[in-house]
Amino acid sequence: MFLPVLIAMMSLFGTNEVPEKVYAKLEYSGDAPHAILKTMPPLVYLDPGHGGEKGHGCKGFDGRFESEANLLLALDVKAALERQGVKVLMTRESDVDVPLYERARHAHTLPADCFVSIHHNAPAPGKDVMTRYRAVYSWNDLGKELADRIADSLAPCQSLHANFAVTRSNEIPSVLVEADFLTHPEGCRDAFDPQIRASVAEKIASGIIAWRQAKEE
Ligand SMILES: [Zn+2]
Repeated sequence: MFLPVLIAMMSLFGTNEVPEKVYAKLEYSGDAPHAILKTMPPLVYLDPGHGGEKGHGCKGFDGRFESEANLLLALDVKAALERQGVKVLMTRESDVDVPLYERARHAHTLPADCFVSIHHNAPAPGKDVMTRYRAVYSWNDLGKELADRIADSLAPCQSLHANFAVTRSNEIPSVLVEADFLTHPEGCRDAFDPQIRASVAEKIASGIIAWRQAKEE
């Protein structure tokens, strides 16, 4: 159980070093669990994965890094959500390092309606370099509905289960989107194509909005 999770984490963070405190409990202020979906307008917390000098994430087929692809896509998701009247906050809006456990903590403190971490993928060591699929990860029932809605909108896309630092919140629905494989030539091309990226962003935003609307019914 732990080894695949460990390998997944190593792949996710694009490093041979497992991040410190990766299995630690989240620490945040405002401990009382709150009813979800109380904010109006809706508030979505977006987290472009990685960033900064040491946090590039995986290296894309064309040599560009995941941290850049994540930020570009997250900014497009932000724009798409804002066009629908959704308020958006982000863990970073430039190429800076944000400590892993700070990312979700801010969203909990507010609290936000949901937390969506945006990443691009790379195959685990020893796996086929031509691997390519989309996936949205959640850890608990709170996050699973949101993951399912985003995955439906991004189809073909799998809704999967993973205990990541940014998905294991018991307080607010939290998911991690692996939008594409940056190591795949076409995945990398698509990630850095402004039109294709905007269309992927629209689908992620639509999934978030569909989830929110289903909650209101
Ligand atoms: Zn990543």
